Amino acid sequence: MQVNDMLRILNVDPGQLPPAPGHAVTGAEAFARIGRNPQPCVSCGRPATSTSVADVPEFGPRWIDKCTPHMIASTKTGGTRALRVRGAEHASQAAVRQTGVEAGLLTAPPTEAECARG
Ligand SMILES: [Zn+2]
Repeated sequence: MQVNDMLRILNVDPGQLPPAPGHAVTGAEAFARIGRNPQPCVSCGRPATSTSVADVPEFGPRWIDKCTPHMIASTKTGGTRALRVRGAEHASQAAVRQTGVEAGLLTAPPTEAECARG
């Protein structure tokens, strides 16, 4: 997925993204952003569960910190990605309602050991 397409999906002004280092980011650097005190999602402000660095045209390397729903929404899965995600969410919500069970998507940030391996 092109950076500009991802930013459009996330509804993010690239000028608002925090500057990132120009080198390849290590797992430890990523953990520092989303580990114990996660940065806010660039799209909605919830605590980020994933982060990456994108070379944003005209702005250079920028951190893209995302919560799980926005990480999923901006994950490349083909030309119909956005529709598929919305459809999957509806199907999941309907199934959850039918069973009367509360459910949520849970993810965990990488452990320090995972980050140390890079
Ligand atoms: Zn978000």
